[in-house]
Amino acid sequence: MTKYPKCGYDNPMEAKYCLNCGFKLAQEEKYKLKAEGMLLIASGIILLLTLLFNALIKILPLLSLIYLIFGITK
Ligand SMILES: [Zn+2]
Repeated sequence: MTKYPKCGYDNPMEAKYCLNCGFKLAQEEKYKLKAEGMLLIASGIILLLTLLFNALIKILPLLSLIYLIFGITK
């Protein structure tokens, strides 16, 4: 049994529509899955940006040092 949160009716697992209010259960599940997937992608992008930013901060002094050396020699 899957208790549907919208109306609280206990629907059988195989039900595609809520037996009480008629709302599409399968579609609700699909939307939830899509939202979770988007959240995962968003958190992945944030993680990637954080890693990139950290790498940039570590590289930046080195780059400026190289630029300084090349700037002096030229
Ligand atoms: Zn319902």
